Amino acid sequence: MERHIELLNEFLNISTKSPGSIPSSWSNQIESQNHLVVAACTHGNEYGSLPAILKWIKSNSFDFRVTVFIGNPEAVKKNTRFVEEDLNRVYTDLSRNSLESQRAKEIAPLIQDANLFLDLHQTIEPTLSPFYIFRYDKTSAHWARAIGCVTEFVTKPILSNPETMTQNEFATSHGVPSLTIELGPKGLNRSSELLADKVLSRTVEVFRSVYLDKVPIADISKKSPALSMFKITHQESFDHPQKALKKGLKNLDPCNKGESLGKDENGKEFYAPRDGVILFPKYPERDSKGSAHLPLPHKIYVLAEVVTSDPELELKLKE
Ligand SMILES: [Zn+2]
Repeated sequence: MERHIELLNEFLNISTKSPGSIPSSWSNQIESQNHLVVAACTHGNEYGSLPAILKWIKSNSFDFRVTVFIGNPEAVKKNTRFVEEDLNRVYTDLSRNSLESQRAKEIAPLIQDANLFLDLHQTIEPTLSPFYIFRYDKTSAHWARAIGCVTEFVTKPILSNPETMTQNEFATSHGVPSLTIELGPKGLNRSSELLADKVLSRTVEVFRSVYLDKVPIADISKKSPALSMFKITHQESFDHPQKALKKGLKNLDPCNKGESLGKDENGKEFYAPRDGVILFPKYPERDSKGSAHLPLPHKIYVLAEVVTSDPELELKLKE
């Protein structure tokens, strides 16, 4: 049996003895007003946090309520990002019938009950370093800085009417501080495991300080090293199966304005519109004629720029 399936089964086994409020979740079942909720495998092929999660819940040394859930267990079994649609995009409309929409309907009340929501992800392609990524929210940004463990934070402007909504955005829209972290490249690897381990321990420390010792999160944040902030300012559409990025781009690779980043369906080069860093480069499988397999991801890459002025003011501006 493949290792990630063994890990999933081990989690599900432990969970049957101490289940959380939804299927495929574990909880320490402590009666407490303070509730930390952690998600793993929101994308089914991002299971690199599972070894750390298992170690963490087995230690079970929490003096507040903790729930951990597997976002998309069916996709984990298939080793794919999702089965019918991306679980991390369906939270605007929970009335649809897809497997992921049904799962989101189960997850939503659990997230709404949290005092902090932590969503553990991994990138599709390699990354120069791990990073936090979520739409800007002041309290959540304080939590990210307070927990630290990584040095980079990528954010997106606030949208008034989003077409899609991530788990993180669903949490924030219900007033729950919420962090999404990209631990490293997808799958089981030592760097993702060690970082997940560190982030989980540090999250417990900070959570205790805030909810049990009543220290304001802004105070803990200000005593922690500032994160390098980026904001996403360009998203390049993946609008033709023949469109292709140049080889070997990694997450957080720097790019310069005017630099060629690949070729479109007519063989014409496309260029970085600004100085920044590359995020989420896509290299789908292609047929012998160079056409990417369908369905195409929406974006072939996104570009993020360093934030130099007050992020809070800047990011409240319209996109
Ligand atoms: Zn993910």
